[in-house]
Amino acid sequence: MSEGPAQTGDASLGRRGLLLVLSSPSGAGKTTLSRRLLDVEGSQLSMSISVTTRPPRPGEVDGQDYWFVSESTFTEMREGGRLLEWAQVFGNLYGTPRDSVEAMLRTGHDVLFDIDWQGARQLAEKIAEDVVRVFVLPPTAAALAERLERRNQDSASVVAQRMAQAADEISHWDEYDYVIVNFDVEESLAELRAILLAERARRQRLKGLPDFVAKLHKDLGKAV
Ligand code: 5GP
Repeated sequence: MSEGPAQTGDASLGRRGLLLVLSSPSGAGKTTLSRRLLDVEGSQLSMSISVTTRPPRPGEVDGQDYWFVSESTFTEMREGGRLLEWAQVFGNLYGTPRDSVEAMLRTGHDVLFDIDWQGARQLAEKIAEDVVRVFVLPPTAAALAERLERRNQDSASVVAQRMAQAADEISHWDEYDYVIVNFDVEESLAELRAILLAERARRQRLKGLPDFVAKLHKDLGKAV
């Protein structure tokens, strides 16, 4: 399936794009995992770029990490139905632009989302069949604190706030289809790829399967 639709005679097999949602408390390694997954998947997987009212951190690029927007633009998008989901996180607004995601899915691309539990829940309610939810847990609280401090892009008070919020985010682990405990990035990446590969092969996601199998049957009959 990874090289495009399989063909048997004139019956072709396609696949609906899936929405791979990654959530975790900040600092659990989700951003690194997302980047690595995008690297290895190439054009098969595209990242959904969210809009946010949070100011950019040093090094963050508009249109790459987020679309950085004002509160009034965000409200306009939300009220105009242009967000697939949205949430308030740490006092800032975050949302998923509808058009770009729908365009990617239409062309059979899978889309990766780095969103919180509120967004994951909204997507699952709206597009239940094609949403695959993965929760990334840190191995220990100390590892989470260390990563947040090492990142050193937020002030000490923001780090303390994010540690407190981590407990809240973690309490939603059981709303997810899969859980990865991020002991080691390479192992976690392998797990994530395995999840993606397996989900791509789900019977109900394959388009044209009955015709494909019927054609196979017919051709098998001819072959004997
Ligand atoms: P950060 O400010 O650290 O980039 O992100 C803070 C939190 O907001 C993270 O948990 C991230 O997954 C979440 N987030 C980022 N974009 C979105 C979005 O579009 N929707 C929702 N619901 N959460 C988001």
